[in-house]
Amino acid sequence: MYKYTVKEKSIISGDILLLTLQPEKISEQIRFYPGQYAAISYYLGSRPSPTRCFSIVSSPREKYLQFAMRIGGAFTQAATTLEIGDRVDVDGPFGQFTLDPEFDDNLVFIAGGIGVTPFMSILRYATEIRLNKPIRLLYSCRSQDHIPFMAELLEHERQNPNFKVAFFITDGQVTPIADAQITKQTINEESLSLVTNNWSKNITYFICGPTGFRKNFETILSKVVDDPDRVVTESFTQATKLSIGSKFSLPTLTYSLTALALLFGTGFIMSVDLARAVPKILNEQAASSQNSTSTSPTSSNSSTSTPTSTSTNGNSSSATTNSAPTQTYSQPITSVS
Ligand SMILES: Cc1cc2nc3c(=O)[nH]c(=O)nc-3n(C[C@H](O)[C@H](O)[C@H](O)COP(=O)(O)OP(=O)(O)OC[C@H]3O[C@@H](n4cnc5c(N)ncnc54)[C@H](O)[C@@H]3O)c2cc1C
Repeated sequence: MYKYTVKEKSIISGDILLLTLQPEKISEQIRFYPGQYAAISYYLGSRPSPTRCFSIVSSPREKYLQFAMRIGGAFTQAATTLEIGDRVDVDGPFGQFTLDPEFDDNLVFIAGGIGVTPFMSILRYATEIRLNKPIRLLYSCRSQDHIPFMAELLEHERQNPNFKVAFFITDGQVTPIADAQITKQTINEESLSLVTNNWSKNITYFICGPTGFRKNFETILSKVVDDPDRVVTESFTQATKLSIGSKFSLPTLTYSLTALALLFGTGFIMSVDLARAVPKILNEQAASSQNSTSTSPTSSNSSTSTPTSTSTNGNSSSATTNSAPTQTYSQPITSVS
């Protein structure tokens, strides 16, 4: 867990809270790959808030950590009341929504609404390091008035000759903007093939948006993409509800309890095995000492062929009882920069 404080906050595109955080100590800050996400919580008075996941918007090369949250429920509304200097805890990084420089050649990013956030980190980084890979972003938003990061995306287009963005508006009027490709339609198979028509192979598609949006493109792409590794998706759905103020998630708790149960189970099985083995050894020792004193071959045979379990068992329980007390038995992820 990393300790950060609020450096800046602003509302962009109507209902998006842009939160910029700085590390309390320069030496203790999260290292991540562009496209990954973090779990964050803050304090309401002295009480910690619940923990929620947000894709990191900033590039790993930036000094500050940035998140963009669509203001909706209790968590994001309370986040708007944070003051400059307030503490924010950051856990992570998490996720595999990242580029593989060896594998990914031609990149198509498909974003729906606030699902643009992980792409912002990747695009900022790509522009900074002058990444020499063609990137096309197809970005779907409800209304032209609410396109988070529109100006910045057009600036990336100007600075990065490998990058092109197309905006798709689903509701309301569309007003042409100089140098911006903006149309009123949903992203469909045709729009996908248009951006990739001169790319012969090795196209990797990254999809991030609402569940229905993501599933729609998974279905469309399953018809044209042979290798499932070439379709990478991010889901903004929280798998488990994290309890207020708790630093233990449900999966962590489940894993810990399972590990404990396995440990005790193994110990129990070992004790039972020992309890069975010890009397046998004692019995064999007793039998051999009897044999050594006996001259009769019959009695010798009977001690080996006839199980001496009855008497031995009787001894074993007391032997076991007596002997029981003595029978005990990531990833730090490196920065890309
Ligand atoms: C990997 C990942 C990355 C994300 N990145 C971003 C991002 O960059 N920007 C952004 O705005 N959002 C992002 N989200 C979604 C974000 O975590 C939740 O939507 C956010 O917590 C909602 O906050 P809220 O204030 O609207 O509602 P809350 O007050 O947090 O919750 C209201 C109710 O909705 C439930 N709930 C909260 N979040 C989810 C969820 N994701 N799925 C299902 N039920 C939920 C809660 O249990 C509660 O019952 C991401 C989610 C994930 C899993």
